[in-house]
Amino acid sequence: MLNSNHITDLEKIKINISSIETIKNIKLSNPLTSNNMIIVMKRFASKQSIQHMIDYIESVKLTPAPLYGTERTVIAVIGDERTLNRSHLMSFPEVSDVMSVLAPYKLVARETKYENTIIKLPNGVKIGTKQIAMMSGPCAVESQEQLDKSAEIVAAAGTRILRGGAYKPRTSPYDFQGLGEEGLKMLRKTADRLNMAVVTEIMRVDLVETVAKYADILQVGTRNMQNFDLLKEVGQTKKPVMLKRGLSATLKEFLLAAEYIMKEGNSEVMMCVRGIRTFETSLRNTFDIDAIAFLKKETHLPIIADPSHATGKADIIPAMTYAAIAAGADGIITETHCNPEEALCDGAQALTDETYPMMIAQAEKIAEAMGRTL
Ligand code: PEP
Ligand code: MN
Repeated sequence: MLNSNHITDLEKIKINISSIETIKNIKLSNPLTSNNMIIVMKRFASKQSIQHMIDYIESVKLTPAPLYGTERTVIAVIGDERTLNRSHLMSFPEVSDVMSVLAPYKLVARETKYENTIIKLPNGVKIGTKQIAMMSGPCAVESQEQLDKSAEIVAAAGTRILRGGAYKPRTSPYDFQGLGEEGLKMLRKTADRLNMAVVTEIMRVDLVETVAKYADILQVGTRNMQNFDLLKEVGQTKKPVMLKRGLSATLKEFLLAAEYIMKEGNSEVMMCVRGIRTFETSLRNTFDIDAIAFLKKETHLPIIADPSHATGKADIIPAMTYAAIAAGADGIITETHCNPEEALCDGAQALTDETYPMMIAQAEKIAEAMGRTL
């Protein structure tokens, strides 16, 4: 839910776009340097007026990207718009306003698309609505039995998206690297039995097809946020992508990384904050909770919070989950383990069979206070 005082600049144009299908076709010549002009047509402008404008833009060798709304159509102009003259465009029939999109991340910017993007998963879960999407499961898939135990606990608490790493990005090459495709098969089997969706990490371009075969959401981890080839590759799939913020990435870099994915035609992107590296060493990372509120203003994409990797400590995670919900997160991803002491990865931050349901019960109250549900 977006607080109305976040959008005062845009309110006047009341862009009401029912679908972003058309955005998929936008190919930007130089997304970093060119400002896109957008032409806001009057409410219920006629098809002829819209077409007239589109024809004109094409005639001056620019690319029109019309975003058709239920009431109002906005035409984004792609290319070097210096050839256009604002007052000339204003003289066209049924034009309400002509403005520049200033953000370098044009496709992800709320400036371009005012309405929240909603991502629908095959099991019926929608991400980006009033209902906060909960995702949980082990850091790494270790065995079918371990996965089943975690999945059953989180499913019983109402969680409908199962996480679990089959390909693990580990700091040390001697640490457990994941079960690979076997792990993916286990995830799919458990998730299908419990009617859950699967989110799992993809680290390599050549594995996109394999991971996409089993997963419902492709996770691009913090270490790969600026692996541009990987971003392009997942952008060419039809699977939703959860992009995690790089350990030391600025928010602008994060938004531009999401832009890479959308530019390839995949508009189902969610952005996940998971802590950033600072001088602080008492916790694993510093939870970038301000980024949640900032990103909600800046982009129409759903924002997910990962308090597990942000803090690294199981007893800190519930408080940070509540805070993330209060900050406006559209989803929460956490790690659980049936026996954290024996976990092959991230045991210290694993919620247990007891603490996970307790956290969910309290999170429900926070969500309600924020006008949302779990
Ligand atoms: C994970 O979610 O399993 C993970 C490795 O996260 P991150 O990329 O945020 O470290
Ligand atoms: Mn982990």
